[in-house]
Amino acid sequence: MSLESFIRAMPKAELHIHLEGSIRPHTLLQLAQRNGVELPFSDEAGLREYYRFTDFAHFIEVWYVINKALQTAADFTLITYELGKEAAEQHTRYMEVTFTPTTTVERLGISYDDLLAAINLGADRAQQEFGVIMRWINDADRARDPELTLTTEQWAAAAQDRGVVALGLGGFEPDGPPAEFATAFAMGRKDGLHCIPHQGEYAGPESIWQAIRLLHAERIGHGIHAAEDPALMEYLKQHGIALEICPTSNVCTRVVDKLADHPIRTLFAAGVPVTLNSDDPAMFNTTLTDEYLLAAQHFGFSADQLAQISLNAVRYSFQPETDKQRMIAEFEAEFEKLRAEHL
Ligand SMILES: [Zn+2]
Repeated sequence: MSLESFIRAMPKAELHIHLEGSIRPHTLLQLAQRNGVELPFSDEAGLREYYRFTDFAHFIEVWYVINKALQTAADFTLITYELGKEAAEQHTRYMEVTFTPTTTVERLGISYDDLLAAINLGADRAQQEFGVIMRWINDADRARDPELTLTTEQWAAAAQDRGVVALGLGGFEPDGPPAEFATAFAMGRKDGLHCIPHQGEYAGPESIWQAIRLLHAERIGHGIHAAEDPALMEYLKQHGIALEICPTSNVCTRVVDKLADHPIRTLFAAGVPVTLNSDDPAMFNTTLTDEYLLAAQHFGFSADQLAQISLNAVRYSFQPETDKQRMIAEFEAEFEKLRAEHL
């Protein structure tokens, strides 16, 4: 028995994962073929090759290309169901999944409500069959007109009865600094949405301060550049603003040169609430379990520390407080049992 088997069996929750970046390679190829969409690859080996990113901008470009394989509402039902199934296989019990609705609504001419209904159909099936719970973060692309963020906010605010919990902001940070989105996020807050921008993934610590001050970010997507600013790390710790850390993603999109340079240890040691996430697992050839294994193998995290990180994902989730407390108690009981069995 070993730390590895403990990690594989441990209960998990994930707060930073994109639906469109989670499409199984086999499914992506099948959908493209069925929908008559030409992609720049024709098999899984070609796809793996295509998923070699030269920089962050290239990653975004590829993200848009693979989105084209998704053509119908039923395609979204399928990829959501499969995401839930794969998560359950890793003992993931709860996920807050990001999708970017304006991109799809514009491209396919289906309504937001129909898109969300299709996604919820897949999630409901996955929950019934595998017990995994999925909630939604609606992401706006910061490279586009900030007006689209206002549209996203309106859709998300009206869909809180259908699993939407938060407004997100993604894309290439230099294209859209936080200030441009202050109005949309203020509306989101007023409407009861949580606020989770990607920030400090590519841009420096000052951009994270802006996301906190101007957008009132409650968690930060990535936020790795906080490690360069001790005062910021202290602020994140004091105010319980968790970082959604995605180590493999950061290396694949080349915002970090190599794994050894990743600041997760610095952030954790400073007491910043850290969570582990897979971001776009299919595009980065990773899984949530792989991220935990990597944290153990490359960064020396112990079983207890990894259990703490897993509990952080529950603690900093946007579940109702009673559900959260119940899940924390369940996880703690399981960790105790798994420690005895595996360590
Ligand atoms: Zn992301």
